[in-house]
Amino acid sequence: MRHLVVILGDQLNADSQAFDDFDPATDRVWMAERRGESTHVWSTKPRIAIFLAAMRHFASDIEAKGYPLDYTTLDAAGDDDLVAYLGQALERLRPQRLVIVRPGEHRLREGIKAEARRCGVEYVERPDRHFLCAVDDFSRWAKGKTQLRMEHFYRWMRKRLGILLDGDKPVGGKWNFDADNRGSFGREGPGWVPKPKGFTPDAITREVVELVEARFADHAGSLAAFDWPVTRSAALEALDDFLDHRLAAFGHWQDAMWTGETWLYHARLSSSLNLRLLTPREVVDAALQRFANDEVSLSSVEGFIRQIVGWREFVRGVYWMAPDRLLRSNALGASAALPAFYWTGDTTMNCLREVITQTLDTGYAHHIQRLMVTGNFALLLGVEPFQVHEWYLAVYVDAVEWVEAPNTLAMSQFADGGRMVSKPYAASGRYIDRMSDYCAGCAFDPADATGDRACPFTTLYWDFLDRHRARFWNHPRAAMQWRSLDRLPADKIERIRERAGQIRAALANGEPL
Ligand code: FAD
Ligand code: SF4
Repeated sequence: MRHLVVILGDQLNADSQAFDDFDPATDRVWMAERRGESTHVWSTKPRIAIFLAAMRHFASDIEAKGYPLDYTTLDAAGDDDLVAYLGQALERLRPQRLVIVRPGEHRLREGIKAEARRCGVEYVERPDRHFLCAVDDFSRWAKGKTQLRMEHFYRWMRKRLGILLDGDKPVGGKWNFDADNRGSFGREGPGWVPKPKGFTPDAITREVVELVEARFADHAGSLAAFDWPVTRSAALEALDDFLDHRLAAFGHWQDAMWTGETWLYHARLSSSLNLRLLTPREVVDAALQRFANDEVSLSSVEGFIRQIVGWREFVRGVYWMAPDRLLRSNALGASAALPAFYWTGDTTMNCLREVITQTLDTGYAHHIQRLMVTGNFALLLGVEPFQVHEWYLAVYVDAVEWVEAPNTLAMSQFADGGRMVSKPYAASGRYIDRMSDYCAGCAFDPADATGDRACPFTTLYWDFLDRHRARFWNHPRAAMQWRSLDRLPADKIERIRERAGQIRAALANGEPL
């Protein structure tokens, strides 16, 4: 055998570099479902199911195209650990080379490299042409910068790719329409919202759903509503559905939240992108076409493109600069345990109950739910960042470490000390009240930091400012926020500390809140 071409569960792209120069006479494709990939972080059922279903569909497509394929199903005998199992295949098949596109996770990348070395097989890693910015190009852009700012990167990418440009200036005179994109629904709510297209499981997906229910019965999450796209053709339909019905309103409502409205105007495309069923270039081009046709406004298309050309590429670059350092980071010295209700939704805090229940039922929450509800609470409470990271990696259908870890650790938990974002995303219950209807149905009052109905977010918010006063008091971007502590009388701060201590103790003892 000349090449053993390894395709991982998030590399389901028929145009992948892995297949460049593939010769069916001498090469084989290798794919394996191994239990360890679903248990190294205790993944929820939707996350496990989407990967297995998409892998099985992809395998059947490439087999139909005539690629010789070694595919191991979950129940097949052999090591549960993917890397060890691959090592056994290398020993058995003795290929001249192991060919792989750069894995999306540092742990797997290093493991596979080491295993190839141990077996005396040459490791050939190809860059991933799925992305718009190569890892090396990002490193060159980042070189010499002490702080990495998405907005600078995004402008650089727009110029490089020639997106929404008028000469070398941005179309519409502004690079960023973020200020127009922070709408909240007010008391009357969102009204009618177009329901996104769902994909009824076919026979392959139904088999996977049954397998996951049987083999991962003790994992959190539900598959009752599983309707994610798991093939390229379904992902293309999902893209059209978003462009036809939701892109026009995407920008303005992208930060808003509402009970029972899981999707609002969001794209619901991250899992398809991360599995490689779609390319970012085709998604961006399709959105730009809608703008060229006058179907959507500049602020909506710019807001959407910024997420893909800006944030998605940016966080990948940040991750690969120093994945080990990022995963170990804990700039704020946080050490609390992740509350048990993150795995059940069993809490009286309505916002957290809504977002966590939705997450477990669908494998999805939108960005502000992740950042300002679950992430914000963990930040304010002071949960050890690695535990927060493991939860995010386990629960979402789009979770792959290159994108999850920088979002969780650097953006949401400020664990890297501000290398990636300028200040912590810390907010009190008042922010959640402004952006959602969650507080209206809650036992707590978002305006209160002390007293019987004090909102835990609000108490912990002031306590967070108080605990990190020294670090941020003179911070160029955060000082304004921290100076608001001055408005609180000393006895109120004392009561906040006391109440925050009670919340911490209750959660540490596993008492519900
Ligand atoms: P939309 O809100 O409609 O956005 C459109 C697309 O832009 C997304 O599909 C996604 O590809 C891209 N995008 C938007 N924001 C980001 C971002 N911050 N980073 C990277 N891409 C972005 N995204 C993941 O894909 N996988 C993760 O594991 C993940 N973990 C996250 C953890 C935390 C703590 C936070 C705050 C964010 C995380 N995100 C993650 C980013 C973002 O929340 C999701 O990409 C988004 O919610 C996916 O839903 P959507 O497709 O409807 O996106
Ligand atoms: Fe969440 Fe506080 Fe609002 Fe309740 S009052 S929903 S805990 S922010």
